[in-house]
Order: sequence, then structure tokens, then C-alpha cells
Amino acid sequence: MGSSPHNSYPPELSPEEQEYVLTNLKDWSIAHGLAVRPAPSFVPPDQDPTGVLAATAPVTLFPSLFPRKCFEDGLAIQTAYNELYSAIARDEGWLKDIVEELVDIDDFVGRLWQTHLAVKKEGYAQDLSLGLFRSDYMVHTDQSSPSSSLGLKQVEFNTIASSFGGLSSQVSRLHKYLLSIDAYPSSATSIINDEALRQSKSASSLARGLAAAHKAYGPSKSGRSLCVLFVVQNPERNVFDQRHLEYALFEENGVRAFRLPFEQTLLHTELDGERTLLYTPPNSPSTTYEVTTIYFRAGYSPDDYPAEKEWDARLHLEKSRAIKCPSVLTHLAGCKKVQQVLATPHSPHLKRFLPDDQVASRVLSTFAPIYPLDDSEAGQEAKKLAQNVDSASRYVLKPQREGGGNNVYRRAIPAFLETLPQTHWPAYILMEMIEPPPLTNAIFRNGELQRGGVIGELGVYGVCLWRKGADGKDAGQILENWEAGYLLRTKGDQSEEGGVAAGFGAVDSVCLV
Ligand code: ADP
Ligand code: MG
Ligand code: MG
Repeated sequence: MGSSPHNSYPPELSPEEQEYVLTNLKDWSIAHGLAVRPAPSFVPPDQDPTGVLAATAPVTLFPSLFPRKCFEDGLAIQTAYNELYSAIARDEGWLKDIVEELVDIDDFVGRLWQTHLAVKKEGYAQDLSLGLFRSDYMVHTDQSSPSSSLGLKQVEFNTIASSFGGLSSQVSRLHKYLLSIDAYPSSATSIINDEALRQSKSASSLARGLAAAHKAYGPSKSGRSLCVLFVVQNPERNVFDQRHLEYALFEENGVRAFRLPFEQTLLHTELDGERTLLYTPPNSPSTTYEVTTIYFRAGYSPDDYPAEKEWDARLHLEKSRAIKCPSVLTHLAGCKKVQQVLATPHSPHLKRFLPDDQVASRVLSTFAPIYPLDDSEAGQEAKKLAQNVDSASRYVLKPQREGGGNNVYRRAIPAFLETLPQTHWPAYILMEMIEPPPLTNAIFRNGELQRGGVIGELGVYGVCLWRKGADGKDAGQILENWEAGYLLRTKGDQSEEGGVAAGFGAVDSVCLV
């Protein structure tokens, strides 16, 4: 992206131009649900006792420049990633070897594994599984190649509660709208144009994934109306992101969905003799629905399990005959440890799950170096790197957690490791930092505009519905597999973390160059 017009992108705005962009951005955002519930630090709860307020979601003013080839590579590879993670989730024996290294040193992973074992003992009542996945990448400048070529490197693969599919569709529409009303100065429109702006179909496409599972479930066994259940956190600031999926599920697919706070699971659901999951909405106690598909937007973090009752709830849902998005095994397949094992150089693992060499090598090309912190040879090397402040400055240390805010970055790693007993180090992986090329943009968050250096993270959504094989007999079968749109999250380049909900980034869309 070295050529001149891109260097002055995005353009500076005059005060009048800025006023015009922001007025339109604010109104469009609220009018189209590109919104979040306000943070308590932004609007104190006593100023909104009835919970009626919404705020514009953090967004970039301009779509960020993104290398076309990288974008297209990311989309093209998604069905292979869906295939890979669905195969891992179906290979209990392989997953067991990995999880067993973690269960004694990571209670959360241990509890998830126990949940799986408890259901297995009774026998799984449903052999279909749904994944609404998101594979996250950054653009990496390969300094070792003579032309310092750009390539996509994977940050992580999400198998549970992959968020922002709803808002992402809206932000790409917002940027298109701003372009169409001439909110961007004419100096920028040689770069921002309809062709370069990619609309994200994620809301619709993910909803269609839920609808596919709902349909594959088959007819009601209890003679009741069928529904999808969104299992959610309470409160949830990112509720509109989820509502967009719910509304698309209803409006575009005719499927009814309900929101159930995770901690209320046992109050409002029950299993019948065939382990059919029945849901009775609290507002109409005389109507009970049969749940076809459980969509988890909660349950991915230990914070979601303050008491035993939440583990009972997860077990209860996992036991049921409803299709889980995701199943406990699929959730576990998303452990960072799995990503590290797959990335082991010359390992046979990728080939096991992706028999087509070409497909496997395309996936392999997106892996960044990741090391274990165990007693293996690679682990010993990694421990040395991680304990020295200078060498650690090229790495990020990650536990087996989701949702942002859990990693330890660069020079902070050695001191952090010192606080941990060595026996617990294998619960973490050490990953090389991906260093994207410098970019500039302006982020509008909580009513404030900040302009400066930014880092973008591309997420590509994937829908995959599969049937697991009869135990030990066959490998199962993929019924649906598609790429489901994209997300671009952009954060200030001074922040290591990128989570929008965690308070670091903004939703963005791509302007391909
Ligand atoms: P989580 O599951 O909590 O989202 P991630 O692996 O996505 O964990 O890490 C959180 C954030 O940390 C990412 O969104 C990204 O901004 C940053 N990050 C993680 N790994 C890397 C990496 N290898 N290089 C650069 N930044 C990274
Ligand atoms: Mg994650
Ligand atoms: Mg992440």
C-alpha cells in the first residue's frame, strides 16, 4: 500500500465536513441498530433506571484500507477451516490427548471435559452439531521475503459465541451510506468506491445457519411448536448484535427464537423422557416450546459459572436432544492449545483432518508460530524465550480463555510467569506477535473521536452443520458448510487487545486496495 493516495488516507476533515459525517453517522447508527447498551462508565445506571438508552456502537469513520488479496484469501479458506474444526470436534480421541494435558491445571477446561464425559456416559441424544465459527486474522508483513509481501496470519479460531456478525453487516452498510451521501471528501472517493467497499452478509448468513440446524432437527416429538434458544449473558451490552441474528432468523427464515439468560436455564427449561428440551417463556407459562437448537452467547467464560447451578445448567443443555451451537466438544476444539498443536511444524495433525494436500497447505500458510510451554523440546525453547524480557517482547502469552482481556503481552510475560508455579505454565501458549503494516483511521466511541495509528483484525465467519459418526465406526458427515461474511475490528495501535465489547476497538469495514 505504498502508493501516494493511500498514504494520505483517510483524508483530514474540515470542521464542517466532520460535523456532517458525525451527524449522519450517529443518526444512521441508532436508526439501524448499529448500537450497544451504554457502558456504565459512560451512562451511570442511576441515569437510566429503566434501561431504555442505547448508544452508537464504536465504529470507524472511514472503512479501513485492506489488501484485496488477503481479504479474498481469508474468505476463500473459511470452508476449509470449517471442515478442520468440525473434524476435530468429531475426533474425541485426538481432542482427549490435548485436553488431558490441561484438565489438572485449568479448572475451566477440566469442568467442560467432565461435562462431556457425563453426557457420554448416558449417551449423546443428538448427533448433529452446529458451528457458527469465526476465524480471526491480521495482515502480516513478511520481512524475510524480498518484496516484504503481505499475507494473512491467524490470530485465533472461535468456536463459541463468535460475536459481531450482526453489527458487522450494519457497519458496512453505514460506510456505504456515508459514501452515497457524499460525506467523504471527494479526495477520498478515488479510493473509497462501491466496488472497494465489501458488504458483510454475516447477519443474514449466520441466521441462515441457525435456520439450517432448526430444519435438520426434524419434526417435533412433543407435539409442541419448535423454537431456537439464544442462551445469553445478563445483562448484555452487545444485545443488538444478537438481536440482528434473531430478527433475521425470524424475518428471513420464519424461525422463532427466544432469549434465555444462562443463569435462568433450570428455571425455564426441562427435559422430557426422550431428553427433548422444553422451554416455557416466563411471560406465557401456559405455552411450552420444543427447542431445536441452542445458540450459546454465554457459557464461554468462567465468569458465566459463579455457582454449581450454572454447571448443572450446561450439563442439562448438553444432555438434551437439541442441536448445540456449539457442543462442549466443539467448544473445547476452540482451545488455544488446539491451535498451537495444529501449528507444530511438520506435525501430522493437519493432514489427519484435511486429507487434501492443497487445502491443508493453504490453511498451514495462515498459521503464525505458536509454542507450548511444556517439557517438550519446543516447550523448553519457548520457556527460555518467555523468561527473557528482550526475547519475550516479540510474543503474546495466552491462556485457554475467550472473550478478550486474558492475554499477557510482550515484556510483561517474564514477570507474569514468575507469579505462576511452573507446573501451571503448560496451561498457556506462547505466540509470535503478528506485526501489521501501519494504518490510520478515526474511531468514534462514546461520543469521542480519536484519530491515529490503528491495527485491523479481520474475522471471517463460517457456518458448519455436521453429523458425528457412530462411535468409532465412521468419521461422520458434513451437511452444510459455507463462508458467512466478515468482520473488521480496528483498534488504536497503542492497545494490544482488540476486543470491541471489552472496550478496546471499533467495528469497521474493508475498503479493498
Ligand atoms: P480472545 O479469544 O480472548 O479474543 P485472542 O487470541 O483473539 O483472544 O487475543 C485477543 C487480542 O489480542 C486479539 O484480538 C489481538 O488484538 C491480540 N492478539 C492476539 N494474538 C496476537 C498475535 N499473535 N499478534 C498480534 N496481536 C495478537
Ligand atoms: Mg476468541
Ligand atoms: Mg479474539
